[in-house]
Amino acid sequence: MQSTQGSPLAMDPIDLLTKLVSIRSLSAQEGPIADFLQSWLRDHGVSARRIDDNVVVEVVGDAPGPTFLLNSHLDTVGAVAGWESDPWSPFIDADGRLVGLGSGDAKASVAAMACAAVATQRAGLTRGKLMFVASVMEEVGRGGMDVIRPLLGPIDAGMVGEPTSLQAATAQAGLIVLECTAHGKASHAARAHLGVNALTVAARDLLRLAEWRFERVHPAMGPTTVNATVIKGGERHNVIPDRCEFTLDVRTTSAYEPEEVVALLQAKLESQISVRSQRLKAVETPADGALLRALSAAYPADLGPLVCFGSPTMSDWAHLRDMEGVKFGPGDSPRSHTANESVSVAQVRAAVEIYAGCARRYLEGC
Ligand SMILES: [Zn+2]
Repeated sequence: MQSTQGSPLAMDPIDLLTKLVSIRSLSAQEGPIADFLQSWLRDHGVSARRIDDNVVVEVVGDAPGPTFLLNSHLDTVGAVAGWESDPWSPFIDADGRLVGLGSGDAKASVAAMACAAVATQRAGLTRGKLMFVASVMEEVGRGGMDVIRPLLGPIDAGMVGEPTSLQAATAQAGLIVLECTAHGKASHAARAHLGVNALTVAARDLLRLAEWRFERVHPAMGPTTVNATVIKGGERHNVIPDRCEFTLDVRTTSAYEPEEVVALLQAKLESQISVRSQRLKAVETPADGALLRALSAAYPADLGPLVCFGSPTMSDWAHLRDMEGVKFGPGDSPRSHTANESVSVAQVRAAVEIYAGCARRYLEGC
């Protein structure tokens, strides 16, 4: 990457990140931050179009070739309790960390990707196309990348910017949400022998689930897990309830298709299962593919070897299943959605070079 330090168009990802954090951008309220990012890109010589409040940049090379996507999200969750400073007044602390809501998840990635897109445009590309998409509604899982993916055309490989401490998430768990209904037979509690208590039916199922293990274990992701997370049933103290409903949260790996998971659980449970959501499938990328080769080659030696891992958290990667993908970015995942969220300034700076270098190697080198 060409250095622009000191030039009139110098760009500092930390300046950009500071501005991004200072603009509130809850899901569905990304208009102001999208306006700002679009004009920041324009001021740095890169034109960006909008699809609603998604900001889309294309840097087109001299010759045709593959398309490489950098994608991260503009929205944040709300501020939780416990902030010791104003969440939207970012500052850099004594440890060299920029503190603010969304600093790591995922504005650090947005800032680094925007700078990588500018650097790529300035240096030029001999072939292929770099696309940068700053998308909306990631935190609510619907209405952002899932909607605009078909409008972006064919893409060969993509990096999803999320806090991974500059390590490569090469697999990501999927999510299935199941609504279960235990059926019984109502009766007066004084004549309980005439009824069937739906709470007891549900309780038997919950105990079965506590013991249940999925046989096939993914080498990077570990086992598929199932947890009951919500339960409701019964109306009055003197009525044996005929219905009890509970919700299961299933974190899947590519060891099972969603339909298999549902069939296995239905065979195990007395309660009736209905699928609320199974569209967020597990994803993974080949270890010997062109994307990971490009990322390894772009990875600076002073950061040590590139570590690959399986990530339990959801991201927009779930909507990019039709390409080689990896989740990678500055910041630490456990700090996401917590008070006093922060990101290492050094990691954000390193990410600019890694994003730009990986894209260039992938587009020009394969
Ligand atoms: Zn995120």
